[in-house]
Order: sequence, then structure tokens, then C-alpha cells
Amino acid sequence: MSALIQYNVLHYRSLGHHLPRQPRALSRSISCSVITKPRNAKQLNIDQPAVEVALEKSQTKPAVLAASPPARPKRRVILDDPSLQSTWSHRGWVASGSAVVIISLAECISEAATSHIWLQPLLASFLGYLIADLASGVYHWGIDNYGNASTPMFGPQIDAFQGHHKFPWTITERQFANNLHSLASAVTFVVLPLDLVFRQHPFLLGFIGTCSGCIMFSQQFHAWAHGTKSKLPPLVVALQDAGVLVSRSQHAAHHRQPYNNNYCIVSGAWNQILDQLQVFQTLEMILFFKLGVRPRSWSDPDVEWTEVEIHTH
Ligand SMILES: [Zn+2]
Ligand SMILES: [Zn+2]
Repeated sequence: MSALIQYNVLHYRSLGHHLPRQPRALSRSISCSVITKPRNAKQLNIDQPAVEVALEKSQTKPAVLAASPPARPKRRVILDDPSLQSTWSHRGWVASGSAVVIISLAECISEAATSHIWLQPLLASFLGYLIADLASGVYHWGIDNYGNASTPMFGPQIDAFQGHHKFPWTITERQFANNLHSLASAVTFVVLPLDLVFRQHPFLLGFIGTCSGCIMFSQQFHAWAHGTKSKLPPLVVALQDAGVLVSRSQHAAHHRQPYNNNYCIVSGAWNQILDQLQVFQTLEMILFFKLGVRPRSWSDPDVEWTEVEIHTH
């Protein structure tokens, strides 16, 4: 089985990370209008440029040749969009998520102070930070590649992350609680019972508190990775440059072709390892051969993945 997977990984890579859907010899031009309506398109003044796409003889991927009408300076629209703003419900979930994380860490410190054992809880916290980065990568890979808005339970997150690839810059306009509330609600439900069960276990509380806290704030780290260096707080830039938080350059690579790497968004420490070992590509092949499900990263880099440029009149 492993040999089969290896063969298919090689085969798949040799084709430029997607399986062919038409003969190589086929040469044709396609003109299409890109349908690019964000959820609140009616609030925007959006000009939809037609994009001419051509498949060359030597290519199996479409190449964007020119935009019609001719390219104009790209202007990023500051959205006065309610879907980017925080509600009191969002703030409530972030408050509850933060509370359970703080309870974990406070209990951990209290127990460590009582027992005078600090090394194990500190190591457990560091482990939690590392595992959070790995978990963010696996989760991000899953919702970028599989399912859609109607998928039970994960539909809204899948829709948000897949939409993020069309409008990546909107994350910098999204308000704090709006950006974090989904993960904060999950952290609340998962960590609260763990806090009660593992009281008096500083090692486990250190791991749980740090891991869940990093997962909850991963969307803020992600937003900072989309920020402009001059506009970010100097401490955030320093932490990004030190590799404590996922760097802007590393995450920028996630938004470039072939759209199948750098999924981790806490520290990004796992990105190089996972990408060099082709862990996600191997998982994709296993899921394809076992279940027949194709990940979105095998698709041509069409409007599903590429950033949509919004022009204003
Ligand atoms: Zn993504
Ligand atoms: Zn992003």
C-alpha cells in the first residue's frame, strides 16, 4: 500500500499537483466572467473584471493572461460590513473561552506553587504550545480541502476558511471577537469539563491551558500574519520574526500556488516538517483511494483558491 501511495504521490507531483482532467494536447482558450460575490456584495461597489484564461499546449494548468478591462490599480476596500463586526454574542464566547483558559493556567500555577514542582508544568505548557500549532495545521488543512458550507457542524468554519482564500485581506478588517468566537465556543465546551476533571494535576492543566489558549488565539495570530509590518504592534513583529508566532512570509506562501502548504498558524514551527515530509499530500492520497474524495488543493488554481481583486469606481 505504501508503495502505491508513493507512486501516486510522485505521479501527482509530476503533474503539477493536480490530476489531469483533459488531454495535454488540448489547446483552447476560455473566456469567463469570474463570479466573485462576497456575502455582502450588495454593500460593495464591485466591478467584476472578466478574466481571460487560456490553456497552452504545454500546460495542464490555466494561466491567467490578462484581465479585461486592462488592469487598474488595486484598491482594497474598507468594508463597512456587519459580518466583519463583533456582536455581544461573539464577545460573550471569547470571554467564556478566555475564562476557561485562565482557570486552567491559574489552577496549574496554584498547584505548582503548592507542590513546588515547576519544571513539569512548564514543559507541559511548552508541549501544549507545540501541539496547538500542529493541531491548527491539521484543522486548517481539513477545512481548506474538504466539505462545504452545508457540512454538518463544521460548515460555517469551512465556508469562512475557503472564502478566506478569495478575500484574504478581509481578516485584517475583521473585529477581534468576530474572528475568535467560533474557536472560543469550542474551547469553552471542551476545556470547562477538563478543568473540573483534572483539578490538582498541574502537568495536565498546563498542557490544556496553553494548548487551548493558543488554538483559541490562532485566528488572531493568523490575522497578524496578514498584517502590514508598519501597522502591526512592534511586539507582534518581534514575536513573528523570532518564530514564536507564525510569520508573515511563511503564511504568505500558503496563499500562493500550489496552495497546499504552510497550514499551521500558531507558530508555524511544524510547517517545514509537514511540508518536507509531504504529510498532507500523503493523507490526501490515502483519503482519495479509500473514500474517493478529492481535496480542493488538487484543483486548478482557479477562483476557488485565488485572491479576488476588488476594484472600485
Ligand atoms: Zn488556507
Ligand atoms: Zn490566511
